[in-house]
Amino acid sequence: MTEPLIDPFQRAISYLRVSVTDRCDFRCVYCMSENMTFLPKRDLLTLEELDRMCTTFVRLGVRKLRITGGEPLVRRNILSFFGAMSRHLETGALDELTLTTNGSQLARFAGDLAAAGVRRVNVSLDTLDEQKFARVTRWGRLPQVMKGIDAAQAAGMRVKINAVALKGFNEAELFDMAEWCAARDMDLTWIEVMPMGDMGETDRVGQFWSLKDVRAQLAQRYTLTDLAERTGGPARYVRLEETGQKIGFITPLSHNFCESCNRVRLTCTGQLYMCLGQEDMADLRAPLRASEDDAVLENAIRAAISLKPKGHDFDYSRQRADGQVSRHMSHTGG
Ligand code: SAM
Ligand code: SF4
Repeated sequence: MTEPLIDPFQRAISYLRVSVTDRCDFRCVYCMSENMTFLPKRDLLTLEELDRMCTTFVRLGVRKLRITGGEPLVRRNILSFFGAMSRHLETGALDELTLTTNGSQLARFAGDLAAAGVRRVNVSLDTLDEQKFARVTRWGRLPQVMKGIDAAQAAGMRVKINAVALKGFNEAELFDMAEWCAARDMDLTWIEVMPMGDMGETDRVGQFWSLKDVRAQLAQRYTLTDLAERTGGPARYVRLEETGQKIGFITPLSHNFCESCNRVRLTCTGQLYMCLGQEDMADLRAPLRASEDDAVLENAIRAAISLKPKGHDFDYSRQRADGQVSRHMSHTGG
């Protein structure tokens, strides 16, 4: 029997998030600058290497795989990778294969994703207003995303909407978003904006809209019931009794749930980040390429997990974006 991955704080690592590209067809203001320099293609893991990497993690006890980016669906041939990973669902080694997407390519790919065993998809959407959507994503167009969401639901996938809470931007849409999601039988998760990547002029502290406030505003209109559900991440859920839907809050800043963290993140170049909010990482591409023997890669993964830090240091409480990490979210994968 292969020993499972347990970190120094006795947390079992069962969830791997994989960024398959740093590229994207949008330029969301909190995520990327307008003029991004992307990695040369040769630095990226090939789809075969990604397969070997993920398969090794699955062998070491990872039960949930989330594919992200950049925009995962702009990576060439990515459907073949989903198709390949579906074998782990069929054997029962993997419980869930899923993705986080901006939805722009979903209309094209929803059917094939569902056929590969993807049952749920997270679509990032911060506003229901076409003009505001164009502003926040710079290059995105709302109708295209709406078609993607329709296609995903038509293919039988459950859609969850992820919205970044941005002060002065989507505050007024709190109830509209909740009601729109409820009408379409979708859950909704609000995310606090995190200080990731140098965004030039972007004012991090000014953007920050605490989810404590989001929750308090929701409680003025709806009856909120706390749910016990835990995913090992920083999300906490409530049910709105009036609509029956689930609302999540991802609050790495105003709360810290690192003690139950079950996840690690692999970049498209094969670096393993043991914590989203820390700079420490381990290069897994070198051991992967150094030997065909998976034992070499397994040892490198175990060594990396033994360095997983206790938690992050993000902190806005002193009116500064403390604990900021220099890489962009699209590099590590959100
Ligand atoms: N392109 C895909 C998408 O937008 O869903 C997947 C990658 S994106 C980096 C994953 C998530 O990270 C998105 O929901 C996005 O809104 C979120 N995100 C990006 N930058 C962020 C930041 N600075 N703070 C909080 N969330 C951020
Ligand atoms: Fe692209 Fe997603 Fe970042 Fe927006 S949040 S720029 S869609 S990677």
